[in-house]
Amino acid sequence: MTFLNQKFQELVPYTPGEQVDEESFIKLNTNESPYPPAPSVQAAVAEASQTLNRYSDIAVEAVAKPLAEYLGVEQNQLFLGNGSDEVLSYLFQGFTEKGIAFPDVTYGFYQVYSGLYHVDATVVPLKEDFSLELTDYDALSGTVIFANPNAPTGIYLSQTEICAFIEKHPERLVIVDEAYIDFSGESMVSLINRYKNLLVVGTFSKSRQLAGARLGFGVGNAALIADMNRLRFSLNPYNINSLTQAAGGAVLQEQAYVNEKIQETIQVREWTKQELTALGFEQTDSQGNFLFARHPKMAGEALFQALRERKILVRWFNQPRTKEYLRITVGTQEQMEQLAAALRSILEEVKA
Ligand SMILES: *Cc1c(COP(=O)(O)O)cnc(C)c1O
Repeated sequence: MTFLNQKFQELVPYTPGEQVDEESFIKLNTNESPYPPAPSVQAAVAEASQTLNRYSDIAVEAVAKPLAEYLGVEQNQLFLGNGSDEVLSYLFQGFTEKGIAFPDVTYGFYQVYSGLYHVDATVVPLKEDFSLELTDYDALSGTVIFANPNAPTGIYLSQTEICAFIEKHPERLVIVDEAYIDFSGESMVSLINRYKNLLVVGTFSKSRQLAGARLGFGVGNAALIADMNRLRFSLNPYNINSLTQAAGGAVLQEQAYVNEKIQETIQVREWTKQELTALGFEQTDSQGNFLFARHPKMAGEALFQALRERKILVRWFNQPRTKEYLRITVGTQEQMEQLAAALRSILEEVKA
């Protein structure tokens, strides 16, 4: 006996990474920033809490104005969401009439939202080395979405290749999820005036220390953004709460702090890459704030468990193509040294 509508009975929800007690675990499983927000961000939230009796600003001016300026776009080319997950949910709900296509190894929510909104989804396998070949999408129709850099592989696709696809298919919407672009190459945002069929999605969760605040954005042609807002105003016009608006506005005044942490993460990532290679791991050349690695001597699940016993939490995906891999968020240098030491001892036990 269930009261749930029939059409949701097969729905498979997203499995979030575990949230654990930070005192007892080194948390490298959800690609958050290991650094706290700048003190001014914390102060802005405290200040905003004084007016929580009022509804939040539906125009989200405190974020939209500085963010548009930072991105070099007009405010009417910018959509703000309760995390980029919400931005994605509107896109899957409202912009997929002719279906949607995405890679087999990518962000899990694409499949989940396809199920939730009953979108006709085509899953296109990545190449053997996990690289994305956009010409594989040429013969399909409808919307295309991919993450760049991709998750959990961290592989980055060049702007040239993306532009070639967008130009070839002006009648198809191309969504580029740039959750990790700050750790990587060129953003597509600078091209939204050139392409009406391009929508770029971004987030404050990975490079701006605000995963818990839930703030994401979409950037594209003004008409596309107006359509997205039509959906937003039909569901939840107050989707960004006042505390998050204050945090988002303040973090955009702290670009120097944010940039410093991004640079630190990139350095620690490259250090950890070398360390993992020295330990015998095989890995992709991740351009995100995480690594994607497997060890020829030990199964992914066993490694995951052994790390968990040593109070280090990483992400393991029980999927056919990725189950021998771990996705490891880049933490602080100190955390990554502890990770390397733990891996060394685990692998020595296997040898013995
Ligand atoms: C983390 C992540 C998101 C979601 O980020 P939020 O803004 O926290 O909702 C979206 N896409 C990709 C590829 C991600 O890794």
